[in-house]
Amino acid sequence: MRPVQSLLFALVVSLAAACTSWQPVETREAWTLYTKPGYTVDIACFARALEPAFVAVEERMGPFRKNVRIHALAEAAEGGLEAEAQFETVPGIGPARVRAFHVRATANPFQSGGVFLECADTGAAVHELVHARVAEEGVKLPLWFEEGLAQFYGDGAVYEDRWYVDGLCCWPLRELREERLSDTDLERLLAVRGSDSAPSRDNLLVHFIGWAIVFDLAREAPNAAWHQWYDAWRADDSTAAARARIERTIADRSHVDWLKRLDDEDPGVRFATAKGTWKLRSASAAERLLARLDDEEEPTVRFALALNVLITGGEARLSGRQWGRFGRLVFSTLRSANLADPAEAQSLELVRRALRGRTSKAESDRAFDGLARYWDE
Ligand SMILES: [Zn+2]
Repeated sequence: MRPVQSLLFALVVSLAAACTSWQPVETREAWTLYTKPGYTVDIACFARALEPAFVAVEERMGPFRKNVRIHALAEAAEGGLEAEAQFETVPGIGPARVRAFHVRATANPFQSGGVFLECADTGAAVHELVHARVAEEGVKLPLWFEEGLAQFYGDGAVYEDRWYVDGLCCWPLRELREERLSDTDLERLLAVRGSDSAPSRDNLLVHFIGWAIVFDLAREAPNAAWHQWYDAWRADDSTAAARARIERTIADRSHVDWLKRLDDEDPGVRFATAKGTWKLRSASAAERLLARLDDEEEPTVRFALALNVLITGGEARLSGRQWGRFGRLVFSTLRSANLADPAEAQSLELVRRALRGRTSKAESDRAFDGLARYWDE
């Protein structure tokens, strides 16, 4: 649906951090928000996104000891440096865009360390705060593990002001299923360090395999702390062990097992599970969502289920028969949905018109963008 994938990198993208005078615009107990002179930033919106991110990361990784610098990146900065740093075309994968990153503090007084965020997005903030916490602890982790952990914790949804970690990252799952890596590739990727200027494709694959290995470690010990997952890895840190873990994660039915979370008694878990599933482009995933939609009573979760099935319909080339069945329940859910947020209600109205074929492509894209919190991952 969106040709451009969002990336969250801990690259050494120091260009945007260097030589610019960032100005503090808001200070809270845990963080200070900075922006560049001349740019305005929606402070309330950032605060709403950051608070659940801090709670989620501190719950899992311990409290931050120092106030964290958060830099609000301007989406379309003039001058080019930032723009260049944010766009990449990844061979074999396509265009991707860096929308957030973390820079470790250095001795260079002209370079600000901290978190850089293009928009007030809790998932992106969680991802980058994982890097910030690791940096603060001074732990030396392999790049793949740190990125994998950041992706795992950064995948989820905000439900009633809380970040629910889901952990199933649909994009890497699909890419790793489509492209099998050789042992030589795997060995090379496991050895990539943050300070290496790895080619962008390798850097992306480091994120993918990192997520796949961490996902397996987490499935094995769901209630363990992150450092226990790391210890479990270190007990057998061979390429063969990495391969076995990746294979388990990308096995055909792994997402079907994971989607059992759609029956969790906590609606936040169900919401986080449904969100983003369209990226699997899988008819079996859509079937599972649809089955849940039949029983689901919580309106936010119902809406997320319907919207993700709808987008899957456009992505997965479902058969006419499948559509016939999917369509009835999905359309009636979207028709009867009632969204409290006025902007979301307006986007929903546009989606309804789009379904009747009465909008331009640009309008329907805008409509879906306005509902991103239900489907974007
Ligand atoms: Zn990262």
